Amino acid sequence: MLSKAMQDAINEQIKNELYSSYLYLAMSAYCEANNLPGFAHWLRVQSQEEIEHAMKFFGFVNERGGRVVLEAIDKPPVEFESPGKIFEETLNHERKVTAMINSLYELALEEKDYASQVMLHWFIDEQVEEEANASYILDTLKAVGEKGQALVMLDRELAKRGD
Ligand code: MG
Repeated sequence: MLSKAMQDAINEQIKNELYSSYLYLAMSAYCEANNLPGFAHWLRVQSQEEIEHAMKFFGFVNERGGRVVLEAIDKPPVEFESPGKIFEETLNHERKVTAMINSLYELALEEKDYASQVMLHWFIDEQVEEEANASYILDTLKAVGEKGQALVMLDRELAKRGD
């Protein structure tokens, strides 16, 4: 059985993962509107992954005999300025999510909730990958610039991301 504190914290994280999904979907829409179909595709896949994260937590709460409560999701931004800004924001956002996952883990340690600790190991690993992916694309944008041929080539590379 989940403690009330753990249940509430995971419910909050379900909302946070769904907000991540919403944010990346908003970024994807911006890229679609700005002739960057490869970036838009990459971000749409990312958005879908965030829903899967939310559903992992959703399944876990139910399995442990808890009660999922869905909270309101904030409206994401509409405009993002440039692909570089998008990946700066993505990296900052993923760093915040890493801090949230770490806080959940700290709570699981305090509560001596071993099942939650094991479940969270997956998310701790996942956050290493999320930050690395965002860093890689941001560094590439900084190296090649955000215009012309280089941007077109990067857009084509990002179009190859598997679902
Ligand atoms: Mg996530």
